[in-house]
Parts: sequence; structure tokens; C-alpha cells
Amino acid sequence: MCAALCLFFLPTRASNAIFTALEQSQDAIEITSEDQVIQYVNPAYESIMGYQQGELIGKEIIEVPKSEKNKPDLLETINSCILKGKEWQGIYYAKKKNGDNIQQNVKITPVIGQGGKIRHYVSINRPLNDNNKSEKSTERVQAESQTDIQSSKHKDRRKGSLDVKSITSRGSDGSSQRRHSSMARIHSMTIEAPITKVINIINQAQESSPMPVAEALDRVLEILRTTELYSPQLGTKDEDPHTNDLVGGLMTDGLRRLSGNEYILATKQPHHLPSHLATPLSLNDIPPRIAQTMETEASWDFDIFNLEAATMKRPLTFLGLKIFSRFGVCEFLNCPEATLRSWLQVIEANYHSSNSYHNSTHAADVLHATAYFLCKERVKQSLDPIDEVAALIAATVHDVDHPGRTNSFLCNAGSELAILYNDTAVLESHHAALAFQLTTRDDKCNIFKHIERNEYRTLRQAIIDMVLATEMTKHFEHVNKFVNSINKPLAALEENGGNSDEESVKSVLTSPENRILVKRMLIKCADISNPCRPLELCIEWAGRISEEYFAQTDEEKRQGLPVVMPVFDRNTCSIPKSQISFIDYFITDMFDAWDAFADLPNLMQHLDNNFKYWKGLDERKLHSLRPPPE
Ligand code: 5GP
Ligand code: MN
Repeated sequence: MCAALCLFFLPTRASNAIFTALEQSQDAIEITSEDQVIQYVNPAYESIMGYQQGELIGKEIIEVPKSEKNKPDLLETINSCILKGKEWQGIYYAKKKNGDNIQQNVKITPVIGQGGKIRHYVSINRPLNDNNKSEKSTERVQAESQTDIQSSKHKDRRKGSLDVKSITSRGSDGSSQRRHSSMARIHSMTIEAPITKVINIINQAQESSPMPVAEALDRVLEILRTTELYSPQLGTKDEDPHTNDLVGGLMTDGLRRLSGNEYILATKQPHHLPSHLATPLSLNDIPPRIAQTMETEASWDFDIFNLEAATMKRPLTFLGLKIFSRFGVCEFLNCPEATLRSWLQVIEANYHSSNSYHNSTHAADVLHATAYFLCKERVKQSLDPIDEVAALIAATVHDVDHPGRTNSFLCNAGSELAILYNDTAVLESHHAALAFQLTTRDDKCNIFKHIERNEYRTLRQAIIDMVLATEMTKHFEHVNKFVNSINKPLAALEENGGNSDEESVKSVLTSPENRILVKRMLIKCADISNPCRPLELCIEWAGRISEEYFAQTDEEKRQGLPVVMPVFDRNTCSIPKSQISFIDYFITDMFDAWDAFADLPNLMQHLDNNFKYWKGLDERKLHSLRPPPE
């Protein structure tokens, strides 16, 4: 296959078939680029016109000698038609290489790419008064088809051969034309997708590569053709039961086994404002004890559990008021502080205080980490004010109405939510959807009421994207995209640029695609930052998540549901082991990447310290959160 043609076609069986059709066609076919440079001619073209491919490819159409037998303005007529994207069909004299003129029935079809632009022109030329030759060639193809039929026992192959016959023998009828134009459509579809470009570039490189490289590239192509490019192949190689359970429990949607159990999560009306609770009127009215507890909220080591106690389990409202005010969220949204307060209260009321982990303290903790990350220099360089506002709102709502059960559980139990969201990102879809329902249902708490429609759409999009990014099935996809599109390019620029490449750094940081990746990584890291908190906080979080998982296992056993994470059995679980696995599998790489970007030495120090703590307990074969008293 010539290099120019490689540019166009996927190396799939389908494209091989298309290529074969081109090569076997009795019509002379010529493909040019949008600026009418010849990119391909088929063998029939070569034999009819007397040129070799190599003499034509790369030449502009106008450089090829023209016949003087055409009407003087014919070329202009053709061009005025095809340049507008319309097909032209008519009789045209072409000049063969030997100077002879040949009359042809010509059809030129512009091939439109994504975005509506013309990418190529396909010209199909059939010599007139050349019946003999055409008949003969048809006979030859038919004869070949015949042998094919004889050697094949499969009916579908016979049908394939007949199709070849019909293309070659009934060239001018409608079915053939349809075939040609759908080929052009397939052609234009496959050119445009980025993955196709990548595959084509590799194909091209393969042509001039030594065998071992070409073979290695074959394996690369094999991987590229799979869909899950960013997720590791799960479930086979890891021997560690904790890792396996975490993978099974967090990274799948519980599709391992469906149960016929009737269990349905208790449905409940969303909570409205708890009117009986004394609520602060504004930041200034926050009780002194609570205000004092929040004084150190800008520090990473801030103790959220103190705030939980001081606020009687309503840390989200109070911390939200303080942090949103620090970032000027009300000014950005043009919303009264009273609306923000009502909104925070409604959101907090819809977290389940009965969950040991996924309650409003976890949301407040994620909000805290988010605000902390937003103050990092690199993050500030990358994000706009609207991104910051989106991140703070997303953190606040990201687990709202969490039932304290995993996606796998909900799918296995056939819960209403799993049915509503088709077993796909069930919880995350629910958190995002409910957040907007709660917000827009009542003007009193609608913090978006005073922003302009387009701004609302942008903000909403960003919030939804971030909440959905907390879904653990996409963990490796988000981390790998971040590393490939941000860490690596930045590292390369730092290596050879020094200060001179400020502009390139800025463009990596602020491109719209990369800002999305930064926001996703930011909320993901905030969401599972527990192992990077000071040891005491880290231990408390580990206790809470374990308890929530134990409660799920208890319930799975009670209800006869599949146990999605058998290691999280309160009678047998080693919490240190489960933390070691969680850190090894999900945390280390992600925080290495996030630290390389945002520079977080204190978090990395805590992580190291905490990891050693869990290792220490595990080496002593302890299963508990803490060593027994001396
Ligand atoms: P979230 O549901 O909080 O938005 O997403 C974070 C996920 O990571 C949750 O499924 C949560 O159960 C899990 N996770 C967070 N921290 C820990 C931890 O310390 N250990 C384990 N095993 N899982 C955790
Ligand atoms: Mn969360």
C-alpha cells in the first residue's frame, strides 16, 4: 500500500476490503486533497491513462496535461460546482500520457470532513466507447470470483464475490453510485477522529521501520484499538485480597452478579430547611466558639472533627460560609449571603448524619481540601474565577444524599437509583442531579438565580463534570490523562526551557481541555485525601470508612446479596492492611502526580508517615486502628 494511501485508511479488515475494492475497480479512480493535489490513483487509472502512480502523486491537478477537446469553460464549470461541495457528473475528455485523448464519463464527489469542510475530491472516470475492454475485465473478475466460490464452502463468501461482480459489471447504475458515495462517507469519517490520525501516523512510521520496531508498533496498534485506554486491566494479577476487594467494590458497578433480591433503599423526601435549628444570620453571627474553631481553616492540618463537634454535626454550613466568603463566591454569583446560607443548610440537611463516613463532615473535609488546593500557585495560574466557584460548589454537593452504600451494592440490590441511572455512575449522577434540584427548586436557596444564562450553563457543566469525576471506575483514566497532558509536558518544558518558555507553560496550564483535567484531579485528590492528613485525622477517617463498609457487608449478608468487599467483614478485617492497599493502589501515584503539579510537601510527608504507621501495625499483625495500650 502506498504511503499516501496509508494516510487515509484504518488498518482494519473493513478498510482492507475498501482498499481491495479500489484496487479492483475497473473505473479509473483518482483522489485529491482539498487543494486538488493528487493523493491516489488506482491501477485502472494507471492502465487507462498510461501513467504510473509515482508520476502523479503529489502533483496538482492543473499540472497534468489537459485535452484541448473539452469546451474552454468546462473546467471552470466543474470547479464552480465541486468547490461548493456539490457532486459533478458529465462527459470529459482526458489526455493520456501518450497524448491521446480519451472520452470519459466522469463523476467528481467532494468528501466532506467533520466540521463541514471539504477534505478530498474523489473522481471516478469511466471511458466511453471502450466496451470491449470493460467486458473483458468483468469476465476476468467473474472468473476469479467463480474460483473463489468453488474453493469456499461459506455462503457469505459467495455473496461477497457476487458483490464484487455487481460493482464491476453494473458500474453506472444507482447501486454502484451509492456504494461509491458511502465509501466516501466512511472515508471522511475515519480520517477525522484523532485516534485515526494516531493510527495512521503509526502505520506510516511502520513502513520505514525495521522489523522489530514494526512488530512493536503492531502491539501498540492492538492496544489503541481497545476502548479503555486509560484504565488498567483489572482483576487478574493482584494477589492481595484487599486490593482485589477495593477494585471489585469501587471500580466496578456491581455487574459481577445480579441478584433478584427485592431490596430497595428507603426512599425519602429530600430534606427541607431544618427550621427549628438556630442558624447563623451571616458570617458575623457565627457563635464565637465555632468562629474560633475555624480560625485555622486555611491550614492543611485543620481539625475538621473539632468543627464537627462544635457545630453539632453541621460543619458544612459553617465552614461553607467562611470559605465561600474568603473566595468571594457571593460576589461572583451576585447572590445575597442569606441565599448562600439557606443553600448550605439545604445541602447539609441532605447528607445522612447516620452514615459513619459519607456524611456532611466528609463534604466539609472535601471542601476544605478543595479550598486549600485552590490557593496553590500552579492551580491559581491554571483556573479562572468561574472554575474556582465551580470547584467549591462541586466539593460541597459531591456526595449529597449518599446512602452509605457503594455503587456495586445499589446495582446488586436493584435499587431505585441504580434503575434510574442504568447501573452507570449511579451515586455520582444522583449527587449532581439532586444538587441542582435542591438548588433551583426554591428561590430562597437558589444561588444561581442572579447569574446570566450562559454563565450558569458553563458553571453547571463544570460542577457536573467534577462531581462525576469522583466516580472511582474512572480513577485511572483521570489520573493518567492528567499525567500525560499536564505533568509530562510541564516536565519537558522545565527541562529544556528554563524561564524563557513562560508562554508554553501558560498554554499547557490554561488550555480549556487541561483546565478540565486540573479540576477533575483537584476534586479527586480532595475527595480521597484522608491518607494525606495528619495521623490522628487519617486514623479517624480510616475508622469511619471501615465502619461504613462493615455495615454494608452486614447488610449484604442479612439480605442475601452478593458481598462485594468480603475483606471488609468486621470480624476478620485488618484495617491496616486495607489502608496499605488503598494507598498503594489509588493514592501514591495520584498524589505523586498532584504534588508534582501543585507542590504539596506537607501532604506527602503525612502520607509517608501514615503509610509507615499502617505498615508498623501490620508488621505486628494487628488488625485494629491503633496499637493496644501498653
Ligand atoms: P466518594 O464516595 O467519597 O466520593 O469517593 C471516594 C471513594 O473512595 C469512596 O468510595 C470511598 O469509599 C473510598 N475511600 C475513601 N477513603 C478511603 C480509605 O481510606 N480507604 C478505603 N478503603 N476507601 C476509601
Ligand atoms: Mn466523597
